[in-house]
Amino acid sequence: MENKVRVRFAPSPTGPLHIGGVRTALYNYLFAKKHKGDFILRIEDTDQKRYVEKAEDYIVESLNWCGIPYDEGPAKPGKYGPYKQSERKEIYQKYIQVLLDKGEAYYAFDTPQELDQLRAEAEKKGEKFSYGPSNRNELNNSLHLEEEETKKRIASGDFVVRFKTPVNTTLNIKDEVRGYVEVQTDNLDDKILFKSDGLPTYHLANIVDDHLMEITHVIRGEEWLPSLPLHYLLYEAFGWKAPSFAHLPLILKPSGKGKLSKRDGDKDGFPVFPLQWKDPKTGDLSSGYREDHYLPETLVNVLAFLGWNPGTEQELFSLEELIQAFDLKKVNKAGAKFDPKKTLWFQQQYLQKAPIEYLMKAFMNELESLEIEASEAYVEEVIHTVKERATFVSDLWELSSFYFEAPQDFAPKASKKVWKEDTEIVMKKLIEVISEVDDFSEENLKEEIKPWIADSGYGFGKVMQPLRLSLVGDMKGPDVFHILASIGKNEAVKRMNFAIQSLS
Ligand code: GLU
Repeated sequence: MENKVRVRFAPSPTGPLHIGGVRTALYNYLFAKKHKGDFILRIEDTDQKRYVEKAEDYIVESLNWCGIPYDEGPAKPGKYGPYKQSERKEIYQKYIQVLLDKGEAYYAFDTPQELDQLRAEAEKKGEKFSYGPSNRNELNNSLHLEEEETKKRIASGDFVVRFKTPVNTTLNIKDEVRGYVEVQTDNLDDKILFKSDGLPTYHLANIVDDHLMEITHVIRGEEWLPSLPLHYLLYEAFGWKAPSFAHLPLILKPSGKGKLSKRDGDKDGFPVFPLQWKDPKTGDLSSGYREDHYLPETLVNVLAFLGWNPGTEQELFSLEELIQAFDLKKVNKAGAKFDPKKTLWFQQQYLQKAPIEYLMKAFMNELESLEIEASEAYVEEVIHTVKERATFVSDLWELSSFYFEAPQDFAPKASKKVWKEDTEIVMKKLIEVISEVDDFSEENLKEEIKPWIADSGYGFGKVMQPLRLSLVGDMKGPDVFHILASIGKNEAVKRMNFAIQSLS
C-alpha cells in the first residue's frame, strides 16, 4: 500500500504571511485533501534573530480566516509533535551528531572576521568566496585540524557544523513542477547546519522534521529551489528516502516585472496580506483582505488560480471543488501575474453568493453606526435590490442610502440635464397623481402612473428622470417604482416638493 499523503506548510514567523505564503498553504491543503491525506502546520522558528512576536498567531489566524484547516499543528497536537521547531531542540542535536559520526558533516571554527577577509580577497579577484569542496581543506575546521585541537575548540563553544558536500557528483533531482533539475555538487557550498547556540539552521531542521513527520510531498515556493540540492543530499547523507518536491511559481507584480511585494500593494491599493498587520517595531499598518472587506472565498479562489488552472472554462470554485479539480501536474512553471481587477471581479461574484445573514449583519451594523433605524425585512429587501451592483459590503450604503434618507442635495450635472423650466409643472401634476394612489405597491404604482404619463403626452423620460432625481438626488439607483413603493407615499411627496423648492 502506498504511504498516506502527508504535506506540510512550514512558515517562519518572521512577519505577516504574504499572500504567496497563503497560496503555498492552500496548494498543500488541496493536494492533501485530494489524496485523502494530512495537512500539517509546522512553525519554523529556529532563527531567533528574525523571530517576530505575534507572527505565529497571525499565521494561524490567517489560515483560519481563509478556511484552510490543518490536521496537525501547534494548537492541534498529533503523534508527530511538537510542531514548533523551537520545542524540538534535542531532536536536532541528536541528528547533527548522526551526520558528524557518519563523516557527512564537520565542525568549522572560522571566525566571522576571517570569513569576511576571505570574501574581500575573493572579491578583489572578481570571484565569489564559497566555503566548499574546493577549499575546505585549507580552512579552519575539523577536517584537518588535530583531534586534540578540534576538541579544545569545540569545548570553547565557538563553532558551527557544516555539511560536507560530496565532491564531483552530478545530481538529477526531480521536481514535480519543473521536471528534472541537474546540479553539479562542486558548485555547491558547505552550508551551515548547526550553530554553537545549540540550534539548527533551517536546512537541518527542515529535513529532520520532514523525515520524522513522514512528509511525502514538499510543496513550497520557488525561492526554495536553490536549497533543493542540499536537501536532497541531506536525505542521502542520512540514508533516508526523500519526499517528492514541487516548487510553486512566483507571484508577480501586476506588470509581470518582478516579484509581488508589499510596496506594490501599497502603491496600487490592494492588500498583499490576508489580514491587516501592524508592525510591532515601527507601528506601520499594512492592509489586509479581511479588513478591506474581501470575502475569504475570494482570496482562496484568486490564489488557487495564481499558478494553477483546471484547464476548463470554470473560474468560480468553492474549496470543495478546488480539492476535486486540483492537480500538481497542472501547476505552471512560469510566474503568475497578480491581477487586481480580476480579484475585484471574483469579489463581486462572491458577494452575490454570500449568505444573506452575512450581508445583513454587516449592513445592519453600518446602519446602526449611522443612527438609521429600519426593520430587518426592509433592509433585507434593499440588499436584494442593490447587491448586484456591489463588490463589497461596504458599497451597500452608497448604493442604497436613498432608501433610508432623503437626498440633502442634487447632483449638479444631473440636475442641469433633467430639470428643465417646465419640470416644476410636471412634478406638481405628478404629485397630485401620486397622492391619489391608495395601493402603493410597485405593481400598482406602475399601473397607475404609466398610463397617466402616456395620456399626458410628456414622454416617459420627462417625468421619470426628474422623479428619480427628486427621490435619489442623482440619476442612479434601481427601478424608480421600487424606490417609490419602498419609501412610501408621504416620503415620496416630501422629496418631490423639496426638489421643486431646490431646483426650480
Ligand atoms: N521555513 C521556510 C519558509 O519560511 C519553509 C520552506 C519549506 O517549505 O521548506 O518558507
